[in-house]
Amino acid sequence: MSKYYILFGPPGAGKGTQAGAIAKQYNLKHISTGELLRAEIAAGTELGRQAKELIAAGNLVPDSVVEGMIASAFETVKGVDGFLLDGFPRNISQAEDLDRMLEARGESVTGCISIMISDRMIRERIQHRAAIEGRADDASDATVTNRINTYHAQTEPLIQYYKQCGKYHEADGVGTIEEVYKRITEIM
Ligand code: ATP
Ligand code: MG
Repeated sequence: MSKYYILFGPPGAGKGTQAGAIAKQYNLKHISTGELLRAEIAAGTELGRQAKELIAAGNLVPDSVVEGMIASAFETVKGVDGFLLDGFPRNISQAEDLDRMLEARGESVTGCISIMISDRMIRERIQHRAAIEGRADDASDATVTNRINTYHAQTEPLIQYYKQCGKYHEADGVGTIEEVYKRITEIM
């Protein structure tokens, strides 16, 4: 049995920051669908071209696109104790498909760990990051607003989904990187 952790949380919660350190500590493969998509855009692939405008507007890309990325990682990555999914699943349909994918492998989600911050803090963190990383989807207020709305409408229902099966755990995302890291590893 491998471990399948979901790192959950609103945009700008610090998932990517925490995931790197957690993956290393627990010998997990960190898969960030957002990073994979940005790499496709940077490489100018057909997939990247399709994703670019959706991402810049703060919308989700089609489920089939991210699910293909996840499935291929599950197939090809070897030599780890499991996976740390960052930014996936992002809606109920993706969560159901993930359950089906894992069931077909005789596996299941180990736990969903949520890094929680307020909408106000989402904006503060993203504004700060915009100046540092130059991400297209951090640049405009309209896009950030749409990402927050997309999160509440499509992603937040996953909290209930994972609560129902007893797999939902929440870490307060306010504090230093080290403090949040400690909260997450205590849950794990
Ligand atoms: P964080 O700041 O915590 O890294 P984020 O929401 O700001 O989170 P990413 O997770 O990097 O950023 O995602 C960036 C964009 O990529 C999303 O707004 C969305 O358009 C697209 N994306 C990423 N993952 C998915 C997914 N599972 N389904 C659909 N679209 C996705
Ligand atoms: Mg990220």
